[in-house]
Amino acid sequence: MEKKTAAYICSGCGIGDAVNIDELVSLTTGDLKVPICRTHANLCSQEGAALIKQDMDKEGANALIIAACSPRVMYDVFNFENCIVDRVNLREQVAWSQPAGDENTQMMAADYLRMSAAKVAAMELPVPYKPEKEISKTLLVVGGGIAGMTSAVEASKAGYSVVLVEKEAELGGFQKKVGQIATFPYKGVVKNPLNELIKEVTSSPKIKVYTGARVEKTVGGPGVFEVSIKQNGTTAQENIGAIVLAAGWQPYDPTKLDKKLGFGASPNVITNAMFEETYLKGKVTRPSDGQAVSKVAFLQCAGSRDPQYLPYCSTVCCTTSLKQSLVIKAENPKSDVYVVFKEMRTPGQAEDLYRKAQEEGVIFIRCQSPEVKVDGGKVTVEALDELLGETVSLEGMDLVVLATGMVPVTALGMDISKEAKPQEEKKEDKKEEELLVPPDIIRRSEILNLEYRQGPELPALKYDFPDSHFICFPYETRRTGIYAAGCSHRPMGIGSTKEDGAGAAMKAIQCIELTSRGASVHPRAGDLTFPEFAMQRCTQCKRCTVECPFGAINEDEKANPLPQPTRCRRCGVCMGACPERIISFKNYSVPMIGNMIKAIEVPAEEDEKPRIVVLACENDAYPALDMAGLRRMNYAPWYRVIPLRCLGSMNLVWIADSLSKGIDGILLLGCKHGDDYQCHFIKGSELSSIRLSKVSETLNRLALESDRVRFETVSIIDYEKLPALLNEFAEKLQEIGPNPFKGW
Ligand code: SF4
Ligand code: SF4
Repeated sequence: MEKKTAAYICSGCGIGDAVNIDELVSLTTGDLKVPICRTHANLCSQEGAALIKQDMDKEGANALIIAACSPRVMYDVFNFENCIVDRVNLREQVAWSQPAGDENTQMMAADYLRMSAAKVAAMELPVPYKPEKEISKTLLVVGGGIAGMTSAVEASKAGYSVVLVEKEAELGGFQKKVGQIATFPYKGVVKNPLNELIKEVTSSPKIKVYTGARVEKTVGGPGVFEVSIKQNGTTAQENIGAIVLAAGWQPYDPTKLDKKLGFGASPNVITNAMFEETYLKGKVTRPSDGQAVSKVAFLQCAGSRDPQYLPYCSTVCCTTSLKQSLVIKAENPKSDVYVVFKEMRTPGQAEDLYRKAQEEGVIFIRCQSPEVKVDGGKVTVEALDELLGETVSLEGMDLVVLATGMVPVTALGMDISKEAKPQEEKKEDKKEEELLVPPDIIRRSEILNLEYRQGPELPALKYDFPDSHFICFPYETRRTGIYAAGCSHRPMGIGSTKEDGAGAAMKAIQCIELTSRGASVHPRAGDLTFPEFAMQRCTQCKRCTVECPFGAINEDEKANPLPQPTRCRRCGVCMGACPERIISFKNYSVPMIGNMIKAIEVPAEEDEKPRIVVLACENDAYPALDMAGLRRMNYAPWYRVIPLRCLGSMNLVWIADSLSKGIDGILLLGCKHGDDYQCHFIKGSELSSIRLSKVSETLNRLALESDRVRFETVSIIDYEKLPALLNEFAEKLQEIGPNPFKGW
């Protein structure tokens, strides 16, 4: 594309008061040689946008530098099709965070224009990726329980075809074992309406159901998944656009529980799941002799919320025990029913169920650690009642029901992360050992059988649930186009499971539609670029294939990367990882950022005006800087901020570029990593901090102090702390003294 660059400088929102616009225009048309440069008092107005449009139509302007507000606002106003656009943040990060009319403020604005001109010169117009195969708009739902069936029904109602695979011979999942459910808003305990949902699925012409079947193999990526489904000894092939994983859960194994809860010591000590199965056969009876029950104790949190067993709350066990206690009371109103609990957790309208149980005479005992004592046929529950301050002995219990929690099916199976590659390759492959990324935990649970370089199943997160980001991206897993629903996502009751099934279906549909337009899914939704590899220079080092957080790059037998663009989230982690610097996007590349750094004007040492480059993650750190500006919080004027798609896309060469140019310091601002991480690309921030630990090598080579480079994690709500952090680092650099490369 032959570029014709045009620059537009807005003087509104205080920009014109803070900086000398005429000087910026002179710089743009002079040193920067931009042929068109216009100013406007309100560029985001209809008139301002029309000015730009007019230049596009009449002057052929197709590479636009828009120096105004942050790129995070007015996105639609400055979104011009078939045009390269770069936004220069003169408002939040100059006019609103620096003193007006100051020489340093002017220098900052001028540098941002220089950096933008360098960026635009390196940018190309994205060409959307089009796979050779036709994009499929069919959803695959794995799991025929409530979540899976709801996903299938909702997707079909939205007009999409669905293939549903259930491993059991019948649809229904765990709910097949449940006779009655409580209705909310609470109207009583009613017969489980599961069959109605099953009927909806089986009667829909848009849903193809495979029961007694399993996914044998999944290859490809969003839009072009090829899924082999094995059923009755034969294998069917389906072309799939996106996948909803609704594989469900299993009750926590009661044999692993603390012996003092009595499981296994008497047949009359059962679990909540066993209670349901017993009830399905008719009346609830005493397992030891089939007699009617009149004394029943429910013990809550059996193994749950205990780091030794199941560390989390399964959210439904309290409600289930309340429902089961009402079933007993309905059968025998004179029965003695006790619920021994640490805390009753009855969120939302389940509180009505709690009230109903109290009204029906169920007795609640608050106790942290009850004990079940079995003496011959006699079962006694001993509980230190926190209210009475004394131990209560519930003797002669006909039935003790342990309220055990839920374990996602994805948690079952062995950790095979280390086996994901053949053993012999691992031994000989020295390069692999040097790779930076900590491996994902992959379990052999045989649910999706992905043909991915990183292993056959979804990586497990905390407690083995496979969703990728518990704060911002519910449903999303670490494999693009695969969304977790229901109890594969987190423990939940029936109402939430239905909502979750519908939500995951909507995410899968979004993925299909974005993929069919060649665009990325969340968080860079709509991005039309994708990584391109200059393969002739590839050394088969495997960094890109291993470090991609989404398993988007497979490998051939010679270790050549095989990018799968529809799986790609456009984070740029591979670009940051590649030592040969041969991975780039049309509008984001190692040379492009390098040129932006080189465009910064570095004053001579005697001017005592240090320069510090901030490589800021665009997801949290950059918005936090904007927020600081929005609150008119000032910070040292020496900073020049470059937004990165993810700090994981940082290539170490930028640090060398900066220091060899005489930049005094480099600040990397990324997201928090660790268990409760917030990194939008999962590992990007962690990877960059690991890479940075290797930077001392570079610094030593350049005979520079490693204190010149600092890594900090910030979330968007840390904006209040940012000015102090920036000022402190600037002071530290002044203590260290100027970069000795200055002026070279
Ligand atoms: S841009 Fe990110 S998701 Fe895409 S291939 Fe590179 S590392 Fe993987
Ligand atoms: S990181 Fe770069 S050099 Fe290494 S395998 Fe990937 S593309 Fe090739």
